[in-house]
Amino acid sequence: MLDSVKTTPDDTSKAQTGLHSEESPLFSSLEFSNRFHSLGEDFFSLQEPDGLHKPELVHINHSAAQLLDHDSRQLDTEHFCQFVAGQHIPKNCRPVAAIYAGHQFGGFVPQLGDGRALLMAEVKNSRSEYWEIQLKGAGMTPYSRRGDGRAVLRSTIREYLCSEAMHGLGIPTTRALAMVNSEEEVYREQLETGASMVRMAPSFIRFGSFELFASRNQPDKVQQLADFVIENYYPEISLQNNDVKDNPYQQFLSAVVEKTALMVAHWQSAGFAHGVMNTDNMSILGLTLDYGPFGFLDTYKRDFICNHSDHQGRYSFKNQPSIALWNLTRFAETLLTLMTIDEAKATLAEFEPVFTRHYLSLMEQKLGFFNADVSNEEHQKRSTLILSLLNLMEKNQVDYTLLFRQLATAAGYQENTPIRDMFMDREAFDTWHKHYLKLLEQDESLSPEQRCKKMNRVNPKYILRNYMAQIAIEQATRYRDYSEVDKLMNILLNPYDEHPEMEHYAGLPPDWATQISVSCSS
Ligand code: AMP
Ligand code: MG
Repeated sequence: MLDSVKTTPDDTSKAQTGLHSEESPLFSSLEFSNRFHSLGEDFFSLQEPDGLHKPELVHINHSAAQLLDHDSRQLDTEHFCQFVAGQHIPKNCRPVAAIYAGHQFGGFVPQLGDGRALLMAEVKNSRSEYWEIQLKGAGMTPYSRRGDGRAVLRSTIREYLCSEAMHGLGIPTTRALAMVNSEEEVYREQLETGASMVRMAPSFIRFGSFELFASRNQPDKVQQLADFVIENYYPEISLQNNDVKDNPYQQFLSAVVEKTALMVAHWQSAGFAHGVMNTDNMSILGLTLDYGPFGFLDTYKRDFICNHSDHQGRYSFKNQPSIALWNLTRFAETLLTLMTIDEAKATLAEFEPVFTRHYLSLMEQKLGFFNADVSNEEHQKRSTLILSLLNLMEKNQVDYTLLFRQLATAAGYQENTPIRDMFMDREAFDTWHKHYLKLLEQDESLSPEQRCKKMNRVNPKYILRNYMAQIAIEQATRYRDYSEVDKLMNILLNPYDEHPEMEHYAGLPPDWATQISVSCSS
């Protein structure tokens, strides 16, 4: 058994640094579990944050705070700001930086790690859920390589907004709890200010965590990590089962394949491109992780490349499913001391059908087909319809989010829907629309009104387009005005609702949006 390890609150070496406070009202009500520590110091380095100079709170996310049983409106904000800035460590926290490796743009990097993030604690909430609390941007670690351990405000705002936008869309993701700006000077292409944010996830373990130990030829460590992840995050898999036909590690691989396929199916159906699908950015729990130069589709374009540093388009929108499988294959290779090659191959072969099933199910719903209990032939007709719509959208450069949000009106059995004006080739659209209405008619389980309502719960009105983040970033960096971050958080956490005061963000992006370029610089 891997028991939870309680950290030692009376650790004198930490108390001397002055970062630890005796009384910590912030987390005093929480139960600290810190299970990651039980793996031992081959898996991490103890590292205290290097606090940011003169921090100020940019945002506290009430939605995420609730996961820690906090009403953040009653938080002692000064204390909390110090925590987010890395200036104060609650009494029972023993921060660590995790070590990992990874394939970056196809090439193996033997050692990486949390270069600017620290796992501050793991807490258990009143619903017995475990949440790891990570601080990003609070200083150097043994894994910083040539980096400075900092994150700039611009990239912090982007990660913060996007992780909550994804959550709002129902896509598995790490969460964002709070963010500070500071007067710390950080150099990128120009002088910027340092910022930090608190992220939360059940675990931040990555494919790369396994790759590190496999590449060092340490199969016992691979097994220890696998056992830890299975025991704590995949409890439905029994490690005690001695039946050779039921290899628990194969089941583990299968579960990771399933979760990754589901995550990427969500990305493809929402029009989200991650931008840096390196194996060190792939969560073992199938959570969208490490937001850098991500982008949502404006017009539907399969070849969309959101990362301007990705010259080959390795991580283009259309490549995401095959890259996910490539990454899973690298992960499976780390488990080859725990299963046969045939077992690994058979499990990896599950990816494509699982991905396709999830993707088509999500797309069927976007088109208003909520009855999944139909014949294969019917599903096939729907798939053909989906594909022909996507082809038409690409040819006619139609905005992905806008089209699907307005599709509910076209599903309302109207011959002349306003959507047809979104297509240059209106006749082609009319032909498609006729087929669409015909297929919808066969599904009598919903009235047009009911269908329209349900469609508006799966087709968002608001997504985080680059220009929206850019407006919030400009206001924050130029004037230290963070109000736009707050406004965007409200719509992105509820992207299916109407927000009349924010209607200007529900339309096409402005012309200047095409000038925005995002790269790995963060
Ligand atoms: P990313 O592609 O942003 O996930 O980063 C890849 C690796 O570089 C990770 O191990 C990061 O921790 C590290 N890294 C990125 N930026 C910095 C920085 N400014 N300082 C230290 N490490 C960094
Ligand atoms: Mg990363």
